[in-house]
Amino acid sequence: MVYIVKQKIHGREYYYLRESVRKGKKVVSRTICYLGKTREEAEKKAKEVMESMKKKVSSEKESAERDLSSKPSLRKLKKLNPSIEELATFCKRRGFVYPSAEIYGGYSGFWDFGVLGAELKKNIKDCWWKFYVYGRDDIVGIDGSIITSPKVWEASGHVENFNDIFVICKKCHKANKVDAAEIGKVRCPCGGEYDFENAKKFKLMFETFVGEGGKAYLRPETAQLIFTNFKFVYGNSRLKLPCGIAQIGKAFRNEISPRDFLFRCREFEQMEIEYFIKENQSCPYEIPDVEILIYSAEAQEKGMDAERMSIRKAYKKGIIKNDWHAYWLANCFLWFKGLGANPERFRLRQHRKEELAHYSSDCWDLEYEFPFGWKELQGIADRGNYDLRRHEEFSKKDLKLFDEKDGKKFLPHVICEPSLGVERAFLVFMFDSYFSDVEKGNIVLRLHPKLAPIKAAVFPIVKKKEFEDLAEKIVNDLKKEWNVVYDRAGSIGRRYARNDEIGTPYCITIDGDSLKRNDVTIRDRDTTLQVRVKINELKEVLRRLIEEGVSLEEVGDPI
Ligand SMILES: [Zn+2]
Repeated sequence: MVYIVKQKIHGREYYYLRESVRKGKKVVSRTICYLGKTREEAEKKAKEVMESMKKKVSSEKESAERDLSSKPSLRKLKKLNPSIEELATFCKRRGFVYPSAEIYGGYSGFWDFGVLGAELKKNIKDCWWKFYVYGRDDIVGIDGSIITSPKVWEASGHVENFNDIFVICKKCHKANKVDAAEIGKVRCPCGGEYDFENAKKFKLMFETFVGEGGKAYLRPETAQLIFTNFKFVYGNSRLKLPCGIAQIGKAFRNEISPRDFLFRCREFEQMEIEYFIKENQSCPYEIPDVEILIYSAEAQEKGMDAERMSIRKAYKKGIIKNDWHAYWLANCFLWFKGLGANPERFRLRQHRKEELAHYSSDCWDLEYEFPFGWKELQGIADRGNYDLRRHEEFSKKDLKLFDEKDGKKFLPHVICEPSLGVERAFLVFMFDSYFSDVEKGNIVLRLHPKLAPIKAAVFPIVKKKEFEDLAEKIVNDLKKEWNVVYDRAGSIGRRYARNDEIGTPYCITIDGDSLKRNDVTIRDRDTTLQVRVKINELKEVLRRLIEEGVSLEEVGDPI
């Protein structure tokens, strides 16, 4: 139920829109927004707000405006769906990402992250590490070297097999990579025919030289050093199977045709887990009951659509065959969802028979709907004990574990490797947070506060020494905890717009009352609601807003 209330503060009247909701046995009421100073003004505004709330609820699914319907907003935000080129232009203009060495014309497949991009990337990695490493007691992290013994890449099979086949288009003369199965069957995106007779194998590993000419490689994936260090890490950290080892780091692939901005680069960063079990050990964890589009091999073969279904149910029905896969697919999806990605744009796609590696019985990808189509974010497949077995063979070292129960040695199996490219996650979060302010026309980047490059911007409302001194004091204090900036240039409106556009979730202003009452206002980027908070409580309030995800209305009464 929604109603208007009048409040008297310092002899003046203020009107608010409030709502009471039944939560279990209790009725809870909360303020939706401020309506104005007269009854007439309040009634008019209340009507508008309620209408826009109604509209948002009904259009929620199709427009995927996420939690806008539950969050009262004083402005209209519209979800934009930029092309990958438009996003790249925005990223360059606002200092997120530049083409590498742009003053020399850039360098294909390489990108430099600017001030805001470096922060966003760092926050993505921190959130990932917290979720998968600190948040669990069965996974630990390592940091291996980028260049390592070339023997590692012989054992892993990369030296021999890590190639792409590339062909030249007879019409546009561009080089493109094709799969072995596509030879003689596919055409260039321009419509031209490929010159399959002169198809060439192309090595994907970058070569380099160490010391006096010993050939080495830049690592093409972060997985191998997890395998070579497996036994040390297992012993040092007192892990017990089932358990995993995580690593975040750079990897390099000499792609023939890097494309789609950050999607396919030659230098990128991986967040990788190798998860080990004793063969046939079942998953002791409950599979999360979370819904997603499920695109089974059968649906693909029959030309049917993906079906929305709970991941737990998909496992129980035998669509996802392995309990570990269902568990990890759900967790990978929940990581994205928890950081504000739009769940409507995700699906799980099962590999068809012809896509499966010969040793694999089932394999799934977590995919995201990019402007250039559904693309893989993470692949979940069973690697068996192939890697550890190969490293045993090549190094002549025993990598087996000892089972005290049956007194036998065994090689652990990798049941899955939930690995994710940092740049791909970067794109997902940028696309899903890209909105525009309908009235003002500027971009509002609705990044989750944990991901936002700048957590808060502090500004004095007027250019006077006592205001500026207080603002500076507050910034210096908050800077010890978060990336917080002092913004004093331009009108208040311009400063809000500038911060909305780079995703700053909270703007803190120092106004005339601040000096008298020792408090400040905090404005929420998504709703533009404001609350007053005592300066000595500001740090704790921000911590709850950023780290705990509480809403602004929960830390104070909207003004
Ligand atoms: Zn072509």
